[in-house]
Order: sequence, then C-alpha cells, then structure tokens
Amino acid sequence: MQRTLSIIKPDAVKKNVIGEILSRFEKNGLKIVAMKYLHLSKDDAARFYIVHKDRPFYGELTDFMSSGPVVVSVLEGEDAVAKNRKLMGATNPKEAEKGTIRADFADSIDANAVHGSDSLENAKIEIDFFFNKLEIK
Ligand code: ADP
Ligand code: MG
Repeated sequence: MQRTLSIIKPDAVKKNVIGEILSRFEKNGLKIVAMKYLHLSKDDAARFYIVHKDRPFYGELTDFMSSGPVVVSVLEGEDAVAKNRKLMGATNPKEAEKGTIRADFADSIDANAVHGSDSLENAKIEIDFFFNKLEIK
C-alpha cells in the first residue's frame, strides 16, 4: 500500500470536472483518504514547487497554481504513486496517452489539469505540506 498526493489544478476546477477526475481515481482502485479545497497564494505555490525554482517556467507555474482554487487529495492504494502518474498521462497533454486525465481535460503544458507526486519520497513530503496530524493519520 502506498499514498500519493494529487492536486486538481485551477484549470480543471474552472472546467467543473472535479467529480470526473476524482471518479477516475476511485474507479482505478485509489481511495481518497484526505481532501481539501483551497486557493493557494503565490507564496504557497512557490514553496510547494520549490524543487523547480531554477526552471525557466517557475514564475509562470506559481502564477498559474495561485490563479484559482484547487482540490488537494491524498490517494491510497497498491502502487499508488505510479498508478496515479499513469492515470494522469504525460506532462504535455499533446503527448499524453488517450484516455488519460491530461489527454481528456488539459489544454497546455502549463494548464495541465493535475499534479501527482513523482516518487514515494516526494509523496510523503507533499502530503506533509498540505495535511496535519489531525487531517490524516
Ligand atoms: P509533472 O507535473 O508531470 O510532474 P514536472 O514536475 O516536470 O511535470 O513540472 C511541474 C509542472 O510545471 C507541470 O505539471 C507543468 O504544469 C509545469 N511545466 C512543466 N514543464 C513546463 C514547460 N516547459 N512550460 C511551462 N510549464 C511547464
Ligand atoms: Mg512533477
């Protein structure tokens, strides 16, 4: 059993597809074990994406992630990190496999509908960023 962090990004929240995306997790054996709806500040987004601070798109990314509300959830299941990444599809929706979340709901490489932890180690760091001991055991 693993846990991973998912974020439904501002573009997908605006498109009214929170339910459709959460449903894909549930239909594929991932259980939602913690969840919140919130609007990140630019500083929150900058801290969350600090690993990308030297990438040329860091400013754009943090502007976008703070442009509207997001839905953050913790998904639990067998091989949850890789399973979620597979359901998400490639970072660039133009390269995302048919039937993936990004192929179906994302418009561009920056507005790409979802975030998912890329390793078990980062999943733990990202879950701790958003959820305290009262919110997830
Ligand atoms: P992923 O979200 O698939 O793990 P990365 O960790 O490489 O992808 O990048 C984090 C986020 O930064 C991406 O989801 C996307 O929103 C944004 N991003 C990545 N590459 C670019 C790019 N070349 N131009 C603009 N935004 C980008
Ligand atoms: Mg990543």
